This record gives sequence, structure tokens and C-alpha cells, in this order.
Amino acid sequence: MSIIDEALAANRTLADGYDPAHSGRPAPKIAIVTCADPRLSGVVRLLGLPDADVDLIRNVGTVATSDVVRSLIISTRVLGTREIMIINHNECGLSAFSGDELAESLRRETGRVTVAPESFFSFTDVEDNTRLQTQKVRSHPWIAADIPVRGFVFDVHTGRLAEVTSD
Ligand SMILES: [Zn+2]
Repeated sequence: MSIIDEALAANRTLADGYDPAHSGRPAPKIAIVTCADPRLSGVVRLLGLPDADVDLIRNVGTVATSDVVRSLIISTRVLGTREIMIINHNECGLSAFSGDELAESLRRETGRVTVAPESFFSFTDVEDNTRLQTQKVRSHPWIAADIPVRGFVFDVHTGRLAEVTSD
């Protein structure tokens, strides 16, 4: 059985314990952008925040892409979140390889040149990268100036966050 089939079988039982109160209109208070890495899956709990308070936006590498910015604009302008955290982490998979080399090897393997992704957004310095992603969000004219946008590095060994300052 595939993992998806196992998960569907589990859902048939586990959904019995589902609390219908979760179906109310969402009213998150904060947006968090973080990595898809499974080690980040518990970050909301480690921040002591209730799930209901958090709009969690994830992609591989904590990249402030056009789509992440789209989500943040909706989160702050439509859903009413009032603060934004960008949480990158050490030992990220995106610092373990070169995006350009991956693209080149995929072009060779498949014989195809593609328009997307434009970049894999690999990086070498997690603090510099966090600063860059934070600045990309902060500088967007549709993210209101009174919404704090703060960047952090999550340490996968300790579970602690360190803030990355803007300069
Ligand atoms: Zn990562």
C-alpha cells in the first residue's frame, strides 16, 4: 500500500476525533513563512502559538517568492494578520547544493530547457539569505508599513530561534 493509501485509511478512523469547532471562519493573527523541511513542522508549537492564530506559509528554502508575497498580502489585507515572521533554518537542504548545477544536470538528463522554475534559490549563508527574504517582503508596497516583518534562523539542534537584524 502506498503512503497515500495508508494515510487515507488512517483518516477514515482519525477523523472521528475531529473537532467541528475548527471549521469556523479563520482569524489568524500572525503569518509565518518557513521551510517545508519536516524539522520545521513543530515550529508553531515551539513558539507557544495556537494553530488557529497562525497563517503558516511554507516552501522549500523559506523563499519570499511571488507566490509567498501573494499569500502574505492576502493574509494581512484580507485575513487580518498583524505581524510577519520569516523563519529560515540551519542545515537547510537548499544550502546543500547549487541550484545552477541542479538545473544544468536536469537539462542534460531530460534534454529539456524550461521556463520554470526560474531559480531554485539555493544559498550559502543562512543569515544573509534570511535578511534578503525579509527585505523582499518588507519592501513590497502592498505589505503595510505598520506590519512588523522580522527574520529568524531556527536551530534544528536546539529548537531555538535567533533573530537576524536588518543590516
Ligand atoms: Zn530548509
